[in-house]
Amino acid sequence: MYKTFEYRLYPNRAQRGLLLSSLAQSRRLYNEMLEELKSHYDQTGTFLSGYDLAYRFKGRGGEHVPQTVVQTLANRLDKARKRFFHRKELGQKVGFPRFKSANRWRSIQLRQYGLGRDVFLDPDTGRLRVPKKLGSRLKVKLHRPLEGTPKTAHLVYRADGHWYVLIVCDLGEAPEKRDGAAVGLDVGLTHFVADSDGNTIENPRCFRKSHKKLRRAQRKIARRKKGSNRRRKASRQTAKQHLKIARQRKDHAHKIARRYVDQYAFIGVEDLRVENLLKNRHLARAIADASWSAFKNILVLKAEEAGVRVVEVPPRFTSQRCFECGEIVQKSLSVRVHVCPHCGYVEDRDVQAAKNILRASLARTGPSGDKVGDCVESSPRSCLL
Ligand SMILES: [Zn+2]
Repeated sequence: MYKTFEYRLYPNRAQRGLLLSSLAQSRRLYNEMLEELKSHYDQTGTFLSGYDLAYRFKGRGGEHVPQTVVQTLANRLDKARKRFFHRKELGQKVGFPRFKSANRWRSIQLRQYGLGRDVFLDPDTGRLRVPKKLGSRLKVKLHRPLEGTPKTAHLVYRADGHWYVLIVCDLGEAPEKRDGAAVGLDVGLTHFVADSDGNTIENPRCFRKSHKKLRRAQRKIARRKKGSNRRRKASRQTAKQHLKIARQRKDHAHKIARRYVDQYAFIGVEDLRVENLLKNRHLARAIADASWSAFKNILVLKAEEAGVRVVEVPPRFTSQRCFECGEIVQKSLSVRVHVCPHCGYVEDRDVQAAKNILRASLARTGPSGDKVGDCVESSPRSCLL
């Protein structure tokens, strides 16, 4: 399994300049590759592979983009194209990879980790070694040690104006946790999570506060004239606010996930697919679902690290079906308590759902079980957002 470690970078002024030029220049290259991909398709009806693209753009990095980055750009585009066709095949509504604008382009990917390779965290000097075009040796704050075998790295420029390095490490397979209880988790509208043992975890108050700030910041942008400096300044503030919210959510999700992974050996969760999320028009639900899927990704990663099994079940009727007698009890979103007219069972709506999820996920697990694994691959990407 893979885990991403993030460290803040402290480039000096010259290095900062190099990094920013490289970021801008690599975005330009990516867009040129996309252009080439499209025109090649128009002429021949076939797509260039990642390999073809890397070959055609070899040596075109100029003074700011190292060759390793040119290769990762080709891979990035190749992956985006494949993802597009994969999702299209599944019948999802998706657009072809787009040209990247500056605010959608925040990272420089380096391919191989190791001494004398593209990127290396030097334990002797405490510096991050990167290609010369990116500043050679970057000061880095190692607030925690790396674990496992480092594979690749991304340099990310975030909305707070700071640079970070994300290092993806291979931690190997963890032995399965054998003893421990099982639990079912449900996403709540009023709660963040409800579990089958009857506990509910609230959304922290800071979320609402920062959302208020965000809305205010967005109104500020809307008021200001397009293309003006004041508007640009306001959107930078909004981006910062977004980042802050994302960090608060991530921090909260990490803490909750840690608690469940430490306490249990088996966790049943709802399988909320993206297409379900998009179909849902109810705003509060949509937001809850979005934070739920972010939480689930973190949970799956932590669980895998600890050998805890996570099983997903389809969300059909989990909140409607009575846990005691199995009858369907219809209720709207505003009804917070499940009261069964058939058997008289009374339970918090979300706890009830969590119990159903636990039962369904245990029923789903054969001797081999179906471990959730595909979130692991997407982990580096999800961390970049
Ligand atoms: Zn009942």
